[in-house]
Amino acid sequence: MQLRIPGPTPIPEDVLRTQSRQMVDHRGKEFSTLLQNTTARLKQIFQTKNDIFLLTGSGTGGMEAAVVNTLSPGDRVLSVSIGSFGNRFAGIAEQFGASVERLQFEWGTPADPDAVRRALAKDSAFKAVLFTHNETSTGVTNDLASLARVAREAGVLILVDAISSLGSIDLPVDKWGCDVVVTASQKGWMAPPGIAMASVSEKAWAAHAKAKMPRFYWDFAKAKSFVEKGQTPWTPAVSTAYALDLATEKMLAEGMNNIFARHARVGKVARDGAKALGLALFAAEAYASNTVTAVKGAEGMDVKKLVRTLREEHQVYIAAGQDKLEEKIFRIGHLGWVTEDDIREVLSAIKVVLPGVGFKG
Ligand SMILES: *Cc1c(COP(=O)(O)O)cnc(C)c1O
Repeated sequence: MQLRIPGPTPIPEDVLRTQSRQMVDHRGKEFSTLLQNTTARLKQIFQTKNDIFLLTGSGTGGMEAAVVNTLSPGDRVLSVSIGSFGNRFAGIAEQFGASVERLQFEWGTPADPDAVRRALAKDSAFKAVLFTHNETSTGVTNDLASLARVAREAGVLILVDAISSLGSIDLPVDKWGCDVVVTASQKGWMAPPGIAMASVSEKAWAAHAKAKMPRFYWDFAKAKSFVEKGQTPWTPAVSTAYALDLATEKMLAEGMNNIFARHARVGKVARDGAKALGLALFAAEAYASNTVTAVKGAEGMDVKKLVRTLREEHQVYIAAGQDKLEEKIFRIGHLGWVTEDDIREVLSAIKVVLPGVGFKG
């Protein structure tokens, strides 16, 4: 079986096993030690001295937390979107009453830092900018270093969806000055779904003090007051926390630079392999993601049938496109516990299936 969707992702055996451990008191010593150890490792992986919170929920919950903890209804927010998840971030801010300006880039391309600079310069009232580091729907990794620089120059708060990049693609949170950065356990972390992780800068805390959007479950202040006791405010996803504890230990043992290099190699195998099959990449190649590869369906090709046949006949699970790309592209996830050979297997299966789904290449 090859589960190669961009999350949930496969989990190593030892991480799987650690989840079968008995429950512990989430207000007791064992859990507080686990939480402290995991948080300390996360600070290394996020490359930050900022607070980091484990939030029980999926990545989208973390995105909502980023918004409601830093903004007030009516606040001007610049949404920089290059795909479906960028639009989701904007939608969350709008839902909570922010006045969102949407700066959209063509799907398959990254955000242009100069265009972001111009957009920010148009309105001095902008309080925050919403970035997607790695747009999973299109397979594009934004140049977040440049985007964040532009946003810092404008003095706005930088909220980042790094759900499908953090831990797999380099993102030095403090160096790039990102204020709230969100990721989720089922993406590049070799862990099951259930925990979103968020880093919160001092500037984000200053915004929090004034932010009036309704919040209760996601309130960072509650998370902070409990983290000091080695707890979370609400019952955490204990089994997922067991997994994340061991997975982060394994990640640091492998070494973050080695992990980034492995994802770069695997991404290249996916891209080269797709091209060798006669297919075209959806993403602008200089910005193609190392965690998910989006491939264009060729003329006359039934992408959904490809995805279905791979599942049914080869136990290879890849993803179709999202939203307007649903029938136009397919996506191979390669984040977390993945090697070049895993992706070669996926490519071999695709090669076998292609002629039966209308591919004439
Ligand atoms: C997966 C993903 C999300 C959504 O995460 P959920 O855990 O499904 O809520 C948001 N943004 C990006 C970039 C993602 O890859």
